[in-house]
Amino acid sequence: MKNFNEPLIIILLGKSGSGKGTQAELLGDKFGLEYIGSGDLLRVRSKKEDFIGKRIADILAKGELIPTPAILKLWLDRVEEIKNKDGFKGVVMDGNPRKILEAYLIDEALEWYGWNKNVKVILVDISDKEAIWRLTKRRVCVACKEIIPFAGKFKDIEKCPKCGGELIQRNDDTVESAKNRLAWFKKDVQPIINYYRKTGRLIRVNGEGLIEDIFKNILEAIN
Ligand SMILES: [Zn+2]
Repeated sequence: MKNFNEPLIIILLGKSGSGKGTQAELLGDKFGLEYIGSGDLLRVRSKKEDFIGKRIADILAKGELIPTPAILKLWLDRVEEIKNKDGFKGVVMDGNPRKILEAYLIDEALEWYGWNKNVKVILVDISDKEAIWRLTKRRVCVACKEIIPFAGKFKDIEKCPKCGGELIQRNDDTVESAKNRLAWFKKDVQPIINYYRKTGRLIRVNGEGLIEDIFKNILEAIN
């Protein structure tokens, strides 16, 4: 890898159901990167019984978007926590940025930290049809809430791979909610993709194959 002394920053973009979370985990393991996922940050923060915690819990329950200042605060707090860790190698970001304003702000933040030399933006691309199919077929673990994607080897498993718990389909994983997610993606995330493409940083990878093949393609693309 070029610039091996610079932190590697990987930003993963993709529709709900694209499997970008799985790829984020694989990339984190491969390169020893710290993980920043907006979903995780929000879930953890929502458990604190203060104003922000309650507001976040409320907005998450309604399935609405957390405002940018709140998410950016969590993001920066997490960066402060990880940046001085021994052997810090970089960050893999999953679920950020979620709108164009956040893409600009994250660019500024990366520059501020001196992390702007080795940034890889990867779009794990799947069609709308595939996204709807996967979102309405995926399952969740009753015990640990792990989401089991409807892709590759996960299609056939019967028990949660993390804890062995029972897997069920969620009532709210409907075609309608999948379409809502896609509409949000077109409105808010597509401009981000266009922005990274225009600035020559977008790497598009087909997200419709096997998890291992997609991972291989990502590795080839970032090397
Ligand atoms: Zn589980």
